[in-house]
Amino acid sequence: MPPAPLPRPAEFDDPSIPEIETTDVPLCPLCGAGHFHTFAEGYDYELQTSRNKWRFVECDACSHVWLNPRPAISTLGIIYPTTYYAYNYSTKINPIAVKAKEMLDIAKMKAILAHLKRAPKSFLDVGCGDGRFLKVMEKKGVSRDRDYGLELDEAVLEPLKKQGYQVACERVEDSTLVPDGSLDLVTMFHVIEHVDDPGPVIRKLAKWMAPGGVLAIETPNLDALDQRLFHDSYWGGYHIPRHWNLYTAATLARQLKDAGLEPVETMYQTGHSFWMYSMHHWMRFEGNPHPRLAKLFDPIGSLGFLAGFTLWDKLRGLFGFRTSAVLMLARKPENT
Ligand SMILES: [Zn+2]
Ligand SMILES: [Zn+2]
Repeated sequence: MPPAPLPRPAEFDDPSIPEIETTDVPLCPLCGAGHFHTFAEGYDYELQTSRNKWRFVECDACSHVWLNPRPAISTLGIIYPTTYYAYNYSTKINPIAVKAKEMLDIAKMKAILAHLKRAPKSFLDVGCGDGRFLKVMEKKGVSRDRDYGLELDEAVLEPLKKQGYQVACERVEDSTLVPDGSLDLVTMFHVIEHVDDPGPVIRKLAKWMAPGGVLAIETPNLDALDQRLFHDSYWGGYHIPRHWNLYTAATLARQLKDAGLEPVETMYQTGHSFWMYSMHHWMRFEGNPHPRLAKLFDPIGSLGFLAGFTLWDKLRGLFGFRTSAVLMLARKPENT
């Protein structure tokens, strides 16, 4: 049954919120097929940067999910305002949460390195932010002249450049930062769902990787309980309209195999902020809104709940549930 038409929440009637230019994506970015159906619809509940109603579609052939239409490239400055939280994470979120995140990051890297069958000598982090993973890998023996980072926020790169890390403000598709066949480990956490065309990005990374090298890629997981509960519109993992391609473990594996990589491990990660954003959007925008109640679930500043939801997902992960983010490791075959 097709979902009922979704009325625009009153907050979006504010005349200062623009209707922005869009681009149709008529072919499945994963398999190229041209038949799809509506998967979910919604608005920019998180940042209210546009008044457009956005739609995710699901491919009839391969079940891949993508935003169609998506914002035009010319609107990136609107949908990613300068205050976009990913870029100033550590200053806006409580210091205890930052410390907890740091410990989770180190544990994550340890789990990834267990699958690399040698000591890493070169490393690339796509979307490296302030370089926290570059520093983790330096401690693991990667020298700064082979410790690479790509990041679209120029300001955070300056100090890293001065310290001798190999960083550039470029997209993977356009970059010549890394020699072909050289990387032991590449990480790309919560980036692939934002890019225009994931196929060429993964192929470029595969070209940069050394034989036997590993790519670790993390992205929201469509096959999760919170996604099912908030499927129609409010799931935090939709991050409308900034997430353009959404995956399950199956479609992500296909994306990696298409680039000649072999998936070797699938891990599920906590998606605490997806639970909180889902609750927040639902309370703030559904029917009679409850803005004050919703505020409690805003992950920025609501430390108690953030910790609670992180623990909740961590426990569910321990018991083998597929939680809201999937982390997949893929190896470049030795004989290439
Ligand atoms: Zn498809
Ligand atoms: Zn994202």
